[in-house]
Amino acid sequence: MIDGPLEHFRGQRGALADEIKELISIETPSHDAAASSKIVDMLEAKFGEASGSIEIERIVADGVGEHFIARFGKNSGKRPTLILGHTDTVHPIGTIDQNPVRIDNERLYGPGVFDMKANIQLVLAALRYLEKEKIECPVTVLLSCDEETGSATGRELVEREATICSRCFVLEPSAAGSVKTGRKGTGVFRLEAIGIPAHAGLEPDRGANAVAELARQIEAIHSTANRDAGTTVNVTTFAGGTATNVIPAFAACEIDVRFSTVAEGERVESALRSITPKDTRVRLELKGQINRPPLEETQGVLALYSKARAAAETLGFELHHTQVGGASDGNFVGALGVPVLDGLGITGDGAHTLEEYIEIEDIPLRAALLTMLLIDE
Ligand SMILES: [Zn+2]
Repeated sequence: MIDGPLEHFRGQRGALADEIKELISIETPSHDAAASSKIVDMLEAKFGEASGSIEIERIVADGVGEHFIARFGKNSGKRPTLILGHTDTVHPIGTIDQNPVRIDNERLYGPGVFDMKANIQLVLAALRYLEKEKIECPVTVLLSCDEETGSATGRELVEREATICSRCFVLEPSAAGSVKTGRKGTGVFRLEAIGIPAHAGLEPDRGANAVAELARQIEAIHSTANRDAGTTVNVTTFAGGTATNVIPAFAACEIDVRFSTVAEGERVESALRSITPKDTRVRLELKGQINRPPLEETQGVLALYSKARAAAETLGFELHHTQVGGASDGNFVGALGVPVLDGLGITGDGAHTLEEYIEIEDIPLRAALLTMLLIDE
């Protein structure tokens, strides 16, 4: 084992924080293609400088943005480790005025810093270190541009790269410092009710009330949950009606579904599909689908975790693991039978809020951890 990655990264703490500031100064909401190209330009330059032999691929998703792939140490003959991340954030342009890029009390603030732009810097730092020490280990870095909206265009690439790699590290945020060894699968559905409009004062009974129909269905929808199995089902948005004096002809609600096993996801989907209207004059239409399969805590996943825990121990900290409800692109990789360790990002908090930050002190530790994991095959 080479010594010194931690000392090396500690010496670069300020420089790494400065580069993270550059990454978050470009705001990149999902589906803003121009903004996406801007950050990918920056990444192409930075990764290109990290190693002369690095191969870069930019994949344009029309109207969505650009996916970014960097292949390091390609000629080693070994199967690469896949590192997954994303360049998009949930924050609209202008959020930077409400959560300005700044350091305050040893915390670095800014939109998307915790989820997960700062962690892109960890990869850069690790690859530069491997290059400097002439350590041969093949790494494929895939940074997608639509992860926050469900990876409609990124999924195919994630799965393509997953099939040719030996294992996968996902640089999503940690859970209060813990890595993630399990993630629930997700489904997003939309139930629409199409009724019959009528004057609410003159002849209300000629109408079929779509809002009332959908309201009655909510209990049935929620009853498909199974907390003991880890399955949650929640109506999260509801809209309907046009004016106060009209029996509403239309209503729609969105349903968020989370599950720990493939079977549970299928059970809920088929229960939702079999919902029938209570007022038979109203037509119900279910749209949407299961989006991400669950990331199950397999032996392969736990083996990666124990490597990470041992590496963290030599770095002087205790690395815990946990299972969470939120999904990531790691879910797609796990479903292909490839061992995944998720949540390797820098400690911080406030994902998807205006208080998003990372702990600067943690940057060298997580960079060293990632570097050690890449070397230890
Ligand atoms: Zn994320």
